[in-house]
Amino acid sequence: MDLQFDREHLWHPYTSTLNPLPCFPVTHAEGNRLYLETGETLIDGTASWWSAIHGYNHPVLNDVAKAQIDKMSHVMFGGITHAPAVELGKKLLSMSGFDHVFLADSGSVSVEVALKMALQYWHSRGQKRAKFLTLRHGYHGDTFAAMSVTDPDTSMHSLYKGFLPEHVFAESPETQFWDQWNPEDINSFKSQLAQHHQDIAAVILEPIVQGTGGMRIYHPEYLRQVRLLCDEYGILLILDEIATGFGRTGKLFGCDHAGIKADIMCVGKSLTGGYMTLSATMTTKHVADTVCGGEAGCFMHGPTFMGNPLACAVANASLGMVQEGHWQQDVARIEAKFAECLAPLAKYDLVADVRWLGAIGVVELTHPVDMVKIQQHFVDLGVWIRPFGKLVYMMPPYITPDSDIEKLCIAIQSAVENALVQKG
Ligand SMILES: *Cc1c(COP(=O)(O)O)cnc(C)c1O
Repeated sequence: MDLQFDREHLWHPYTSTLNPLPCFPVTHAEGNRLYLETGETLIDGTASWWSAIHGYNHPVLNDVAKAQIDKMSHVMFGGITHAPAVELGKKLLSMSGFDHVFLADSGSVSVEVALKMALQYWHSRGQKRAKFLTLRHGYHGDTFAAMSVTDPDTSMHSLYKGFLPEHVFAESPETQFWDQWNPEDINSFKSQLAQHHQDIAAVILEPIVQGTGGMRIYHPEYLRQVRLLCDEYGILLILDEIATGFGRTGKLFGCDHAGIKADIMCVGKSLTGGYMTLSATMTTKHVADTVCGGEAGCFMHGPTFMGNPLACAVANASLGMVQEGHWQQDVARIEAKFAECLAPLAKYDLVADVRWLGAIGVVELTHPVDMVKIQQHFVDLGVWIRPFGKLVYMMPPYITPDSDIEKLCIAIQSAVENALVQKG
């Protein structure tokens, strides 16, 4: 592989063109293994950013993708429909309990769609509401509107100041998932809502796990209170289940831990089992009818690749496997293994906290990692884990066997023992 060309010309996520971090050349992947051109085989601890839940190169998903390509890879969705989209709609709505689904290209776009739906909902009702209420440490994507509801400090808000609309942020929940609920935890959210409710179109947040903004796993009671407060003020609740959806937290959706339902919900990432990009924004009949009952007469959005048949077909096969339900045992098994292997890491001085929920395991360090060193160290030990700042975290494919979970944890332990962090 021409790594020099890559280094000189290809932009990688959150990477400098002046001094890019090294990239590892992957030639193929299978199950929970990534194969490098240089000969190493890596145990994948990331499911390619939450997406490859069933593992790579899956025979069922491969067959469906090949069969769909021979029928049609893509056809426009304006004025045309097709069986893969209809089937996907049925599956998504029966799993989630919503009435209408908007298929979009990526997680960030599904968030844009959700925010636009909320704005248009109020527009139809003759009210101009232009603010969203969200949480510190949240992450909702990299496009402009998604960025505007993402944590202003951890994302690059200051960089884009003046271009981003300014929304309302409440403190993120402090009570962790396992702790005794502290009723004061909702106060910041409650007071922001009381103060700004007339301008707020919707609340948007990640249920139970705040992912990229800090891997914070919070108490379900917080979500229940948010739902009650939204109802009290008649404000829409948007749940971003892009990372948490389809079993990752041990429940089908993160919000199932709290037994609440959103007015609008976004899914993405694992929707196609990690095969290609696809997302969905789902909502109730009430919201959809209100959005479309206004002056505009319709919802003003329609991406070129909306409802892409190839992506829908693979999503259907992936959701079919989710519906079969083996993930429940797998995720519970991985959670138990994390409990066994991660808890002992808490004793190290460099470790600030360890936590896990479902198939998510987090080691929070006291210092940001030395990215170049730790990444090479992981590859040397035969694992693929991609830390972020002080967070070394895993969200492996559900099929990952216990012995591999153990190896992932041992690799993290070794990185901690070798103090592969930025000094100072
Ligand atoms: C990844 C992610 C997004 C953005 O999805 P993309 O497909 O990267 O645009 C939005 N919200 C959450 C919670 C995510 O984890």
